[in-house]
Formats: sequence, C-alpha cells, structure tokens
Amino acid sequence: TAVKPPHYLDELNEIQRQAAMAIKGPVLVVAGPGSGKTRVLTYRIAHIIEQGAAPWEVLALTFTNKAAREMKERIEKVVGKRAGNIWAGTFHSLFARILRVEAPHIGYPSNFTIYDSDDTKSLIGQIIREMNLDKTVYQANAIKNRISSAKSSLITPKLYERNESLLAEDKGAKMPLVSKIYAKYVSRCKKAGAMDFDDLLFRLFELFQNHPEVVKKYRQKFKYVLVDEFQDTNTLQYAIVKKLVMYPNSPRNICVVGDDAQSIYAFRGATIQNILDYEKDFADFGIQTFKLEQNYRSTENIVAAANAVISHNRRQIQKKIWSDKGEGEKIRIIHEMDDTQEGKRVADTILELKSRHHLKNEDIAILYRTNAQSRIFEEYLRRFNLAYRVYGGLSFYQRKEVKDLIAYLRLVVNPNDEEAFRRVINYPKRGIGATSVGKVIALAGQQGIPLFEALKHVAFPNRTRHAADGFIDIIEQARAKMDKADAYELADTIAKRSGLLDFLRKDTSIEGMGRLENFQALLDGIKSFVEEDTVIDTETLPDKSLATYLQNIALLTDFDSNEAKNDTDVITLMSVHAAKGLEFQAVFVVGLEEKLFPSWMSMDTMEGMDEERRLFYVAITRAERFLTLSYANTRYRYGKMTMNEPSRFLSEVPAESIESTSHSRRSAGHEYDRVERQRAKVSGITPRQRSRGTARFAAPKVDPSTFKPSPIDMIEVGVRVMHLKFGEGRVTKLDGGSDNRIASIHFSDLAQPDKRIMLRFAKLQVL
Ligand code: ATP
Ligand code: MG
Repeated sequence: TAVKPPHYLDELNEIQRQAAMAIKGPVLVVAGPGSGKTRVLTYRIAHIIEQGAAPWEVLALTFTNKAAREMKERIEKVVGKRAGNIWAGTFHSLFARILRVEAPHIGYPSNFTIYDSDDTKSLIGQIIREMNLDKTVYQANAIKNRISSAKSSLITPKLYERNESLLAEDKGAKMPLVSKIYAKYVSRCKKAGAMDFDDLLFRLFELFQNHPEVVKKYRQKFKYVLVDEFQDTNTLQYAIVKKLVMYPNSPRNICVVGDDAQSIYAFRGATIQNILDYEKDFADFGIQTFKLEQNYRSTENIVAAANAVISHNRRQIQKKIWSDKGEGEKIRIIHEMDDTQEGKRVADTILELKSRHHLKNEDIAILYRTNAQSRIFEEYLRRFNLAYRVYGGLSFYQRKEVKDLIAYLRLVVNPNDEEAFRRVINYPKRGIGATSVGKVIALAGQQGIPLFEALKHVAFPNRTRHAADGFIDIIEQARAKMDKADAYELADTIAKRSGLLDFLRKDTSIEGMGRLENFQALLDGIKSFVEEDTVIDTETLPDKSLATYLQNIALLTDFDSNEAKNDTDVITLMSVHAAKGLEFQAVFVVGLEEKLFPSWMSMDTMEGMDEERRLFYVAITRAERFLTLSYANTRYRYGKMTMNEPSRFLSEVPAESIESTSHSRRSAGHEYDRVERQRAKVSGITPRQRSRGTARFAAPKVDPSTFKPSPIDMIEVGVRVMHLKFGEGRVTKLDGGSDNRIASIHFSDLAQPDKRIMLRFAKLQVL
C-alpha cells in the first residue's frame, strides 16, 4: 500500500527517500560526490528513530567527529534533543567508548591511556635505543608504519615472527629485528596500560572474537548500523562491523554509503575491495542497492570537469553525475612565477570573490596536497586581514606546553603510563636527571613493574629520593581525589603543584608568553568541558571526570580543527585528505605541479597515480560555485629551489570549462581597475596602498614623504611605533644608559625575535 512518506523526508529526492526508508536489511549506496549520500544517512537515522527505535540503538560511523556532530544537529531538528544519544562518531572514538567499559576482559585497565602517534614514535625510539640498534637504519617512523599495518591486518607479534614475507621485507630493508621491536612495543604498551590508535580497532576485534558474551551484548544493543565514507574503511574496520551485524538470525540492518572514485586512504590500508565484498557478503540477505546520480552541490562546469578528470582512471564502478544548478562560473587558473606570488594571488582572488559575490570567509577553502604548504597562504591571509583556520598540522594539542600538562594528567589517571612518565618525571627540572631515570628503567625492567612503581623503590641519594617522593606525592594526592574532584579541579591543582605554571610564568619573552597562553587555554578548555551542558546519555550520567576528558581529547583526529570555536567565520585551510565530505562555495586547489600534486611519492606506479587522481577529484568536487586551480613555476622544497612542470591534472580539465585567460593584468586593465576598487571597499585598503603593501616585502613599508620621526623621550615601553623599514611595532623593553638607550621592539610583520634598536640612530614615529 502506498503510504505517504513522513514530511521530514520531503527534503530528499525519490531515490534518496527510498534509501532512507529501507531501514530493514542491508543497504548499499554507491554514488558520486555531492549526490546526497551523507544526507541520506542523516535522514535515515531520523527515520529509524521516528519509527520507534531508541537513539542509542543506532551506531553511525563517520569519518570525523565533526561530521558526526553535524549529523546529530540535523537529526535533532526532526527528533529533538534525544538525537544527542545516538552513537555517532569516528570508529576510533566509538570503539574507545566500548573499550572503556570492556577493557578488563582483555587484560587492560578501563582507565587505559590512548597513545597518540607521537607517544608511539617516542616509545619505539626508546626501544630502539635500549636494543642498541643503529637509529639511522632503524627509523622509528618507518617501524611505526610497519607495526601499524601489521595490526591493521590482524598480525600479532607471534604471527609476524612466522610470516616469511614480512620477515623478508624487513631483511631487505636491513631491519631484521622489526618483529622483536614489535613484540617489545606491544608488551610495553600493555604494561603501561596504553593503547595506540590501531589498538582501538585491533583490541576491540580481539574482544569481540574471544568473548561471545560481550559481542552478544553489543549485537543486541546496536540494532541499526550505518557507515559513511565506506570506501575509506580498512579490512579491520569492516571486520568489526561484520562482527556486529553478521550472525545467525541477525536482522542485518546495515547501511553503508561510499564512492569508490573518492577512495583516498589506500596508503593507510583502506580498500575499495570492502565495497565489492559487502555486495557479496550480503547478497543472500536481500541487499538493496541504490544509485544516486544528481549532484546537488556543484554547478555544471565543476561537475563536467570532475567527470572528465576521473574518466582518466580505468578501474571504477560506472557512475555518472549531473547537476541542474546551471553552467555557473568557469574554472579559473592561476599561474605564477613562484609560490610566494601564488600565495598572494590566491589571497587577492579571495578578496575579489568576497567583494563581487558577497562570500563570507567560511564559504572559502584553500586545499593543498601537503600540510607544509599552508604557511605561505597563512602569511598572505594575515597580511590581508582575512581570518582563517588551519586544520591538521601542528594542532593545539600537539604543542609542547599543552602536552606537558596533559602528561601529568594522564599519570594521575594511569600511573603506569610510560610515555607520560618519561615526559614529566624531570620536567620542570627537579633533579631527577638521565642517570636517575636510567636506574628507574633498569629496576622496572628487572622486576617487570611499571616505571612509576619502580620510582618508589630505587635506592637514590637523599636529595634525589626527596625529589622523587615529591613527584610521587603530587600524582598520588591527585589520584586520591579522583572520585570526588572533577577534571578542572584536578588539572588546576596539578598545574600549580607540578611547578609547570610558575615555570611558564617566568619566561617573559614573546614566545614564552605564547606558551603560557596555550597552557592557560588548555585549563580554560578543561573548565568548559566541566561546565558545558552535555547531553545526558540515558545509560550513563554526564561524566566530568578527568579520565573522560583525556579520552575526548586523545581522540580529536588530525582533521578535527585546532579550535578557536567562537570564531566561526574563517577561511578553511586544509589538506585535500581532510576535506573529504565537506563543501564550500569557493575552493582553491593550490600547488598543482608535477611531483607535488601528483605527489612524487606516488608517481612510480599506476595505482599510486590513480589514487592521486582520485584525490584531485575529491578536491575539485568540494566546490559549489567557484573553483580556482593554481600553480607556480618555482618553489622551495626541502630547502632547495625547485622548478616545476604544471600538474598533468590541469590538462585533464576540459578546456571549455576553463575561464579563457589572459589573467595578465595589463591586458585586462579595465576590469582590473574595477575589481581593485571593489576590493578596496571590502578591505578598506585603496588600490594604491595595496600595491605599496605588496612591495612591502623587501622595500620600505612606509611612505617616506609622510613619515615624521618622534623625539626620543616619547618612546616608552608599550607604545606603538612606526619604523621606516620594519613597519609597525610595539616597544617591549627599554634599557641602556641615558645617551645609549636601546628599545626592544616587536614588529607585527617580522618573525621573532624582537629587534633591538639604538634610539640615538633609529627613526621611530610614535603612533
Ligand atoms: P560526498 O561524496 O562529497 O561526501 P555526498 O554524496 O555525501 O557527497 P551530501 O554532502 O550528502 O553528498 O550532499 C551534497 C549537498 O547537496 C549537501 O549540501 C546536501 O544538503 C545537498 N543535497 C543533497 N540532496 C539534496 C536534495 N534532495 N535536495 C536539496 N539538497 C540536497
Ligand atoms: Mg558525504
């Protein structure tokens, strides 16, 4: 019988609606970018709940936590606040949540620490040193990757030792002892009560495999399973998903959506084979397959370009996407002499787009192949006063002072945490030097006990003993309060008692103040974690404990932003990898040069090249209306000036979709003037000032004809001054004798440190 679909599904087209309503049995949606796959998942979950399921019976696995948050927000509009109880998040964060409860079954404490990739690398480095191996041959990073891919393929140290082909590879790489390092690494992690990122998957699989009663519990709990970006899951992730839905008499209510043409994580073990396997695995259980073909995101020009580019890849599931958004603007190409000018032109073009089309910062993204490319764009965006945010790269939680405090907190929660222990046992310095730490390690090794435990028993000279006891006391006192105190109270106490806060306060250099700010911002973050009104999960009360806080931040993926939450109108800078699933009105894909994009590392093989092309495909299909592709003739790479051919991908974009240049400013002189005038309105900078601003790099920054030096006695700490060559700055310090005074000045446009300037000779104008 034809029942009218519920009104909230009106916002889907016919096929999307069918996919959203087919909530019983297995479903597969393979479709191109912008066709509404994520939208189908979102409305499907709303529908599942509206049909009577409890929110916590829904498990939705997304690529970033941010994507999960956005999904929940959308669903909340249909089902209300209870959307907060849906189990939506990344594989890692949701599996960590399960492991928190179940870890004791597999010999881990439930307060296990999560090692991030720095911790992992550092521990591997430590093991390499202890084994007296040549660290130029045994590189921690390479070994970390070997171990990671072993875990992703469910190869334990024992299996590794028997795996002829892995052993042969290691031999070939002159690292025959990788298997030994792997074994040591695993036992050290276990002893430290720590799991690395791969363990969160590996251990969960192990748990489900070996503990039928546990897996049964979660099979009953998660009645509906959904996976977004399925093409980028690895074998292990799919294996876990199958554990949850493949068992006798299972209803197999599972829906996966993906696009083989957007698979870009093969290097991390992701495999589009999963899509093919899924079709086979569920073939006998009434699998329903939906194909979506209309692209709701991009204009026809962009869709045409995307289709043309991806047709250069041979193997793919046949799909076409079309758009009815109209032809739209042509694709623009920026070609410059060097990367600096590329940066400037991109920033220029952004101002122009903003003024002509009233775009906000948040409508704009700059996408690059490698994170290291961000710097130049950041520089120009700053110069042009355009707010931006860099995703990935050195995020807040990677900064040293932040990691230091977190290490203390980790020790409070789990005193066996070896990496945390090493990081702070003598930081700030308390007289427990390398020799003393060596003794602790030796004792721990002899007796097979954790470092923190060993610290209590080493026979130190008196002064060291005293320092060690002080350290132990800080950690244990906080630990004793863990049940009663929330995360902030503990962190605040630790910040003071550890000496970290005083230590940072003493450093009054600009950099030092920056570090103190980061430290303070971390404490602020913990405070808001404690105070923010989280949605109450019906199974658990809102948990403000330190352990939960640490778990949350350990799982911020590289792709979740480095915050500054209140400032949302910002231009996005990110790697193409991180841009998956996202969309922006205007997208700049930069650095389109051979060996950069496509990357030199992938150019040797057909598979590598195809993956680079898929990456380019992902990049251009993020754009809704304006797409700009840019490249430069030369750039510095690894410290050397390199000359670059334009990327082959540029030539794969059909000529009719590309704006007919010339972008030479002289030939388009009239248009240029008009644009410049509009730009001036937006930025408040006139074209003349701008061109002067452009020349500022090397040449004088200030118009000498209007510059009037002030008398020396007007110069005081804190005043803002103008310098003929360095531009605007602030006086941070004054010293030297009366006729010999020296001002330290921080110039906003210069890299650190401050310039020290003899006032007698300098010309400064007080502002
Ligand atoms: P990607 O492969 O890049 O992840 P996707 O297939 O997940 O893309 P969505 O992000 O779900 O696509 O949808 C792309 C855009 O089109 C979104 O802004 C979405 O809201 C919009 N959209 C999708 N379907 C419809 C529809 N039926 N009506 C209006 N807008 C739609
Ligand atoms: Mg999507």
